[in-house]
Amino acid sequence: MIKRYLLAPGPTPVPPEVLLAMARPMIHHRAPEFDKLFGEVRDGLKWLFQTNGDVLMLAASGTGGMEASVSNFLSPGDKALTINGGKFGERWGKLCKTYGAQVTELKVEWGRAIDPQLVADSLKKDPGIKAVYVQASETSTGVAHDIKTLAQIVKGHPDTILVVDAITALGVFDIKTDEWGIDVVVTGSQKALMLPPGLAFVSVSEKAWRLAEKAKNASFYFNLKKERENQQKSQTAYTPAVSLIIGLQEVLKMLKAEGLEQVFGRQANLAMAMREGMKAAGLALLPKESPSDALTAVLAPEGVDGQAIYKNLRVQYGITAAGGQDHLKGKIFRLSHMGYMDRFDVIMAVAATEMVLKGLGHPVKLGSGVAKAQEILMAK
Ligand SMILES: *Cc1c(COP(=O)(O)O)cnc(C)c1O
Repeated sequence: MIKRYLLAPGPTPVPPEVLLAMARPMIHHRAPEFDKLFGEVRDGLKWLFQTNGDVLMLAASGTGGMEASVSNFLSPGDKALTINGGKFGERWGKLCKTYGAQVTELKVEWGRAIDPQLVADSLKKDPGIKAVYVQASETSTGVAHDIKTLAQIVKGHPDTILVVDAITALGVFDIKTDEWGIDVVVTGSQKALMLPPGLAFVSVSEKAWRLAEKAKNASFYFNLKKERENQQKSQTAYTPAVSLIIGLQEVLKMLKAEGLEQVFGRQANLAMAMREGMKAAGLALLPKESPSDALTAVLAPEGVDGQAIYKNLRVQYGITAAGGQDHLKGKIFRLSHMGYMDRFDVIMAVAATEMVLKGLGHPVKLGSGVAKAQEILMAK
């Protein structure tokens, strides 16, 4: 027998109480009981997003939410500024081009965060830029960009919106949508929100709605204006992912019971224990600055194939992690600590990494990383 553990940066484990809630008999989405469920979940999402604005739900993976955040706000020929510090930043550029936008891309070395001053300079040079697209947490590198500062910069430009992919950030660390002035925040169900894949969420500010009024790209399905009309009445334009919304009701209950500050505190402690545990085991991390609290990207030691580490974790020990993408393939492996995770998930990840490295002939003192992780987890 081999017991399986899911430590990939999405999909992430789903709590048993959420799985049970989703196993309840199907309900009809035009019946009163759905209205009640939807209204409750919609208000819970505002709490989670820290906004009084609209948070719209779409039946799609996270990329569907990203696509809606391009097609509803930009018209062909509009200028967009995209920040590309990894695989998902690159996706913003591809999406904007798909919808005919003129894209300026700020490339960031993989493993580093964007210098906000570069965004300030770009906007100053070209005030015609309609939207800035960035990740709060770039999952391919494990780096967090400074959203608070970026929001301050974009706020000074009345005709420019800030769109943040917070798919591995919202529910992990603080994203103050209204207070910081972020116009559009996108997330998905299968990362920090502890649900199966299939729901995307998009929050929209008044400034962004004004831009949407003028946009000429809106797609038929991902039509946020139409969704707003329906969702304000506790309905959706098309058949919603009913079971996932039932699961989300349970997730929101769990998060509220713990409290947002406590969730962020737990996530930060797990992240620190994972990072320091890996370092104490003699490993170096990919992020040169600003590591994301959602996941840890670890550099494979000289002479050891990162793909072999990731593969042996799964084959020998039943742990699903993730490898590196593109030029980082074979160079790194990634372990998630977001969502339904606790102290022993981190200890397991560090312990198994030590065992895999030793198995591959790399000199590592068993327990060195584990001991460090234990200390940090006990100090909380
Ligand atoms: C997972 C992820 C996405 C894409 O989500 P899908 O659900 O696979 O479409 C986008 N951005 C980030 C930062 C992610 O981690």
